[in-house]
Amino acid sequence: MRYISTRGQSPALNFEDVLLAGLATDGGLYVPENLPRFTQEEIASWAGLPYHELAFNVMRPFVNGSIPDADFHRILRETYEVFEHQAIAPLRQLGANEWVLELFHGPTLAFKDFALQLLGRLLDYFLVKRGERVVIMGATSGDTGSAAIEGCRRCENVDIFILHPNNRVSEVQRRQMTTIMGDNIHNIAIEGNFDDCQEMVKASFADQGFLKGTRLVAVNSINWARIMAQIVYYFHAALQLGGPARSMAFSVPTGNFGDIFAGYLARNMGLPISQLIVATNRNDILHRFMAANQYDKDTLHASLSPSMDIMVSSNFERLLFDMHGRSGPAVARLMEMFKQTGRLTVEPERWNEVRRLFDSLAVDDEQTCATITEVYRDCGELLDPHTAIGVRAARECRRSMTLPMITLGTAHPVKFPEAVRQSAITEEPALPAHLTDLFEREERYTVLSNHLSDVQQFVAAHGNRGKPL
Ligand SMILES: *Cc1c(COP(=O)(O)O)cnc(C)c1O
Repeated sequence: MRYISTRGQSPALNFEDVLLAGLATDGGLYVPENLPRFTQEEIASWAGLPYHELAFNVMRPFVNGSIPDADFHRILRETYEVFEHQAIAPLRQLGANEWVLELFHGPTLAFKDFALQLLGRLLDYFLVKRGERVVIMGATSGDTGSAAIEGCRRCENVDIFILHPNNRVSEVQRRQMTTIMGDNIHNIAIEGNFDDCQEMVKASFADQGFLKGTRLVAVNSINWARIMAQIVYYFHAALQLGGPARSMAFSVPTGNFGDIFAGYLARNMGLPISQLIVATNRNDILHRFMAANQYDKDTLHASLSPSMDIMVSSNFERLLFDMHGRSGPAVARLMEMFKQTGRLTVEPERWNEVRRLFDSLAVDDEQTCATITEVYRDCGELLDPHTAIGVRAARECRRSMTLPMITLGTAHPVKFPEAVRQSAITEEPALPAHLTDLFEREERYTVLSNHLSDVQQFVAAHGNRGKPL
């Protein structure tokens, strides 16, 4: 399998190189040159397979030529062994034909474990083979940081630096990052906000001179491997509920458009999906596109669902590429216009075509809490605020009452106690067994000023298992 850039100006790469690359050199994102397509019979024959074997069948075409089957099989078995639930991604029924796909039984209690547990193992596999070391630099407002650290902690050849805004992530989220000890794990609390952190990471990718020859690897969802791993659970859910013989609808709590883009790909690979719902919070740039063909940058609003607090959605560019007949120059033009004006719209025919599959809803904090309360009252199920937004959107945008509607349950409620408290629910969500002592564990992190040079000096001084590069 080869991968091409959405802006059409970078050379095609194989899977191994795409895993190690961040953005393409032309500023685009990598996508598969040809998407694999499965027949209904093939998909039906996977019913009942353990999660890791289904994962093997779905992802094999993407890694073809880069990893021998036996190695890939072993890596996937090890990846999903660390999940706490036997079913890996169990379904919970909320109502008639209405389900939540629980994606929070991994080590850090959010769906990001599905991809980052795999990414860490794949990096280790290729880097050992190449005899190379890399540095991971990532910015987090919460879930990505802990999932990336958990995924990469055992990687021999990786040092990982995660920047978070000092005093601006929840205590559970901070402790999930800062209590993992290892000489290759480095948490940095920046005296600034999330955007400052992200800008520093971006600037570091653009000019890697400070790394003395080592290279940076991306762990955010511009990394193709993350999207790839998330395609699997759409197949998994559909096979549990009578797919592919019947089609399904999915509602996806959305920030950077990574998770829902994986659902879009699952559909293009042959899984019958009749509707995809983009569920956002007040940061609703994607909802404004879906509702009115206006992808316009707005200011950032802090919400009770912080993992979806974004101003622009990086993976949206991957959808734009398909929307424009996979024309790199067309995407490059649109993105240039967006960079200059902060606005983007597409031709009406293209927008109409997208709207045949996608619907959307923006849900504010008040409605989020009301949904948490309502679902708890009716089903005894405690939702996290992101999942609650998905459920609300599923209920309001649903096109068919006879087809299964599946909301992706993106995080465990214990990660977001504030939203639960504001929903007037007296039950405190409990930490799962492997995290019960989280608040007693020793923490380690470094506070740095909001200056790029300080951060880069720190990375250079500690990037080789705590020693200078
Ligand atoms: C990251 C995250 C999201 C958003 O996912 P995208 O792929 O960025 O759209 C939603 N909910 C939770 C809990 C998350 O951690």
